[in-house]
Amino acid sequence: MSEATAPAFNLELNEDVRDIQEWAHGFAADVIRPAAAEWDEREETPWPVLQEAAKIGLYSLDFFANQWMEPSGLGIPVAFEELYWGDPGIALAITGSALAAVSVASTGTTDQMLEWTPQMFGSADDIKLAAFCSSEPNAGSDVSAIKTRAVYDEAKDEWVLNGVKTWATNGGIADIHVVVASVAPEFGARGQATFVVPPNTPGLSQGQKFSKHGIRASHTAEVILDQVRVPGSCLLGGKEKLDERLARAREGKKSKGQAAMKTFEASRPSVGAMAVGCARAAYEYALEYSTQREQFGKPIGDNQAVAFILAEMATRIDAARLLVWRASWMARNDKDFANAEGSMSKLYASETATFVTQNAVRILGGNGYTREYPVERWHRDATIFTIFEGASEIQKLIIGRQITGLPIR
Ligand SMILES: Cc1cc2nc3c(=O)[nH]c(=O)nc-3n(C[C@H](O)[C@H](O)[C@H](O)COP(=O)(O)OP(=O)(O)OC[C@H]3O[C@@H](n4cnc5c(N)ncnc54)[C@H](O)[C@@H]3O)c2cc1C
Repeated sequence: MSEATAPAFNLELNEDVRDIQEWAHGFAADVIRPAAAEWDEREETPWPVLQEAAKIGLYSLDFFANQWMEPSGLGIPVAFEELYWGDPGIALAITGSALAAVSVASTGTTDQMLEWTPQMFGSADDIKLAAFCSSEPNAGSDVSAIKTRAVYDEAKDEWVLNGVKTWATNGGIADIHVVVASVAPEFGARGQATFVVPPNTPGLSQGQKFSKHGIRASHTAEVILDQVRVPGSCLLGGKEKLDERLARAREGKKSKGQAAMKTFEASRPSVGAMAVGCARAAYEYALEYSTQREQFGKPIGDNQAVAFILAEMATRIDAARLLVWRASWMARNDKDFANAEGSMSKLYASETATFVTQNAVRILGGNGYTREYPVERWHRDATIFTIFEGASEIQKLIIGRQITGLPIR
């Protein structure tokens, strides 16, 4: 969006975003929240909830695309905050496919986006899922260490993929897998490309499904790629672009790394929004509890020690939301992240979620430690926001490099 047409940053949500907020909140309160404890215990994808979400158009390509394109940039963070307020595990089951869709939208051609993204969501009668598979057992924070190989079979115009991906949300149960692989290992991250693996492609299978600490309604698993053959057209961005990029790497020319950085920076605020939703859920619960629970003849919230924690929770949540909204607005309106503002929002919001949920457990005392109350679940859920899409330390590295201009290790 050009400077001239970009809406000015405004803390007052426009009418469209307010409507989305109300709609998402209603679904979170009426459908997600009541189902949360059951799916956390079952540790399975909550298909009935996905079906309800698809029925009202919340689990749909239209919803994610419209909110992604919403001019103020606040459609996604506002909707995500509400869904994750309902329950982070179920909300990740609803929003997990979007990560793969964003990857296709940001690295693929328009034709590829039009072909694959509808197949990632399906329809209300026939729900589909997508998975984004980058991480490997030895390549988590260090994405340049990816060992999965993609080799071009020129005679057949096919790519052959081999390797093991891990911790993939929807891995193995997805209809479409988006896989990052190395095509020229000598160039590290610059020698990588991203591929779409279409539904029912032979050679792709689910490995171990992980039993997790939190967000247990979201399926996380290994994905095994054994002689997986995909058509040349499944290379995102196309072969010509890849060859140009490899030629630049061979000549030792600078890569257009900033573009990739921009994409990651653009998706990070949405993880921040997830964390804000989780934190707000725990804060609201603890606040209410602190006015009801009495010890020593008065509500526990009447003690300065408890009120001060609540004050800090409320302040941190608002600060986190402001950082998330700023970064989301900047990303949507093509503003440069001169100080890694996307990373700042993800770092601060995820650390806020861990702070708030841990203190919510403490405010609820023994009750907070039991599964009779939701705060222990939110506490377990919150930790993930400090790990995926770049752990907190990695966000600090990015911010540190950006503000100092030094290649900090
Ligand atoms: C539930 C769940 C869902 C996930 N979903 C997906 C998905 O859909 N797709 C996908 O591709 N991946 C996914 N991931 C993987 C996730 O992105 C990685 O776990 C994450 O990037 C961290 O990598 P790692 O686990 O290997 O940790 P490591 O990289 O081993 O890091 C371990 C610790 O060391 C620190 N550390 C590492 N390097 C440095 C450094 N240079 N300086 C300072 N500290 C450092 C880290 O910050 C962290 O605290 C998921 C993970 C989980 C748990």
